[in-house]
Amino acid sequence: MIDRVQALREEAGGAIAAAGSVEALEELRVRYLGRKAELPQMLRAVAELAPEQRGAVGKAANEARRALEEQIQARAGELAGEELQARLQADRVDVTLPGAPPQPIGRLHVLTSTRRELEDVFLGLGFTVMEGPEVETVHYNFDALNHSPTHPARARTDTFYVVAENPTRPAASPQSELVLRTHTSPMQVRAMEAHPPPLYVVIPGRVYRPDSDATHTPQFHQIEGLAVDEDITLGDLKGTLLVFAREMFGEEREVRLRPHFFPFTEPSVEVDVSCFHCSGRGFLADGSRCYLCKGEGWLEVLGAGEVDPNVYEYVPTTPANAPGYDPEKVQGFAFGMGVERIAMLKHGIPDLRLCFENDLRFLEQF
Ligand SMILES: [Zn+2]
Repeated sequence: MIDRVQALREEAGGAIAAAGSVEALEELRVRYLGRKAELPQMLRAVAELAPEQRGAVGKAANEARRALEEQIQARAGELAGEELQARLQADRVDVTLPGAPPQPIGRLHVLTSTRRELEDVFLGLGFTVMEGPEVETVHYNFDALNHSPTHPARARTDTFYVVAENPTRPAASPQSELVLRTHTSPMQVRAMEAHPPPLYVVIPGRVYRPDSDATHTPQFHQIEGLAVDEDITLGDLKGTLLVFAREMFGEEREVRLRPHFFPFTEPSVEVDVSCFHCSGRGFLADGSRCYLCKGEGWLEVLGAGEVDPNVYEYVPTTPANAPGYDPEKVQGFAFGMGVERIAMLKHGIPDLRLCFENDLRFLEQF
């Protein structure tokens, strides 16, 4: 029996020394020292042995148990240390490595940032920002803006008409026919319907025309401006646009108004800003012609004018705008500019289509 104790002690001792993990060690503890294991059973059976055997067997078995317990505890300590070491090794942080490369974060599209810049200029002058529908009625897009029934812009080659899904139910009237708005100007009458004078608003938004080349795309952006008050003159328009030109293109800019024609302003003007590339001289320091203004010294940036009194006639008096817009009492100016045109001039963008191709190499430059 003592031999068996000795054999068990050796067998268990070898296994404990070879245990590779805390879990494996716990299994060995149960196998050799657990309640149903052989060694504890033998200890319990000592009482049944012949008296002369009890002392020697009991002592050997007890010693074996204590020795194995100590061995297990020692091995457990070693294994815990090894596992900690392994985890430290695996989780090691090399503080000398460079940080993870910064994740690219998004940025505003050049047209969005330009639009916001423009909005900020006019907000600073006391204008408020409004928005309006992109699917517009012929009434607001053309009629209420004093376009004659035969105006060429109404042609189906120049305007996207929205065709009713059910052609047996045509628009109630030609005025309620729908188009994709060709400009932001329809919001002039809508804004006046919704607010009494004095009115100072800018209206940014998408507009649509069936054009496509390096300087035209079927969809582009405009900002409309409208100021209606008592005693508004062309001088107010010029002063407002001078502030705009200097905020957007530099402190030294000048503006020039040239007579033009628009159906809904009278008089109408085209507005030029002195070229910021050649400082309005038309030629560069090396004597070559300025490519931006093509030697003119001026850049055409927008159309504007005094609101045609006829337009006020299209503004019904509503509860919201009471007492309405009386052309005898109010005057106003309006202007409209292309956001793309401003962005292209300001950043030297040669082709309008770049703004819509979403090529990151282009977009990341702004
Ligand atoms: Zn120039």
